[in-house]
Amino acid sequence: MLSFVYEILPSRVIFGAGCVEKLPDEIRRLGAGKALVLSTPEQRQSGAEMLERLGSSGVGVFDRAVMHVPIETAQAAREEAHRLGADCCVAVGGGSTTGLAKAIALVSTLPILAVPTTYAGSEMTPIWGITEGGRKTTGRDPRVMPKTVLYDPCLTITMPTMLSATSGLNSIAHCVEALYAKEANPIISMLAEEGIREFAASLPAIVRDPGNLQARSRALYAAWLGGISLGSVGMALHHKLCHTLGGTYNLPHAETHTVVLPHAVAYNAWAAPDAIDRISRALGGPAAGALFDLAASLGAPASLAELGMKEGDLDEAAAIAVQNPYYNPRPITREGIRALLQDAFEGRRPAS
Ligand code: NAD
Repeated sequence: MLSFVYEILPSRVIFGAGCVEKLPDEIRRLGAGKALVLSTPEQRQSGAEMLERLGSSGVGVFDRAVMHVPIETAQAAREEAHRLGADCCVAVGGGSTTGLAKAIALVSTLPILAVPTTYAGSEMTPIWGITEGGRKTTGRDPRVMPKTVLYDPCLTITMPTMLSATSGLNSIAHCVEALYAKEANPIISMLAEEGIREFAASLPAIVRDPGNLQARSRALYAAWLGGISLGSVGMALHHKLCHTLGGTYNLPHAETHTVVLPHAVAYNAWAAPDAIDRISRALGGPAAGALFDLAASLGAPASLAELGMKEGDLDEAAAIAVQNPYYNPRPITREGIRALLQDAFEGRRPAS
């Protein structure tokens, strides 16, 4: 019998090729007029273009966003926003840039308008993260939820092929874990399944032709669904493991998700049969094996060894991953996690 809690997330979403042109109107709609644009150093040019597009509604660009939001960067960006008298932030980029905007929103009343250019999905979540002294702290706070999101697939065309593949698989991981989440509900499960299906259809086309706007549009739509899934329900083993591996061994974010996902799904398979059925249906084959095959077909890394993990660290990683209890459909055991990590280290294809 159905029984669930469903909370709708508050963002206004505008989706479509060329929709970034609506940026000035959307800033006015927020009641703002002094926007600080945020970007990474690599996307400085995109940041400058946004500032130009904003005209008199923009006050500057802060182009120092980096992965995992170091506290020093967050503080520098907060000071810059204050110095320029900014009344909102425009985050143009992936999860790193949206994360920086969230770090500003966490200690101010500045609304965020997000213009995502990867498939990470942070723009659809109230989750923030800040790294201090090598440790990343995360939390959920409705204040960091972007008020407006402009999803323009034209801005994703420049995403390098491999980032497109791994970022897409990162978003698939949000969908997968939403399906067996503790708080899973039928609405989010429907969106999550659709997200996996749309990525499975669009990512191979993007790898073949990164300029395929139709495929880019479908993948960005899927990323939106992945973001809603991540923001609406809790995650489990897969996200915990990736957090441990990324934080402790400095492994790259999206690539780590790509490698671990088939093994986390294989681990949970018998404990979450309904979720596995949905994943298999969306992928057109048995869930864990099909995820492995999808990643391989995209040319994505298949093993933790390829990402620079040392085999000698696997025991310690397993111990850290079981330190604090958390929800997972199948009970977490140290032996089970150790075996999972060995498979992921070697890049072994899961049987099911
Ligand atoms: P990213 O934002 O770090 O971007 C990776 C690189 O690609 C950067 O150099 C960036 O400038 C560049 N790039 C991005 N889009 C591009 C484009 N269209 N064309 C050319 N270059 C482009 O990578 P990411 O995977 O989007 O984000 C990872 C970070 O986001 C991690 O820190 C992760 O923890 C966080 N994250 C947070 C949430 C959340 O809900 N809070 C969700 C997902 C990810």
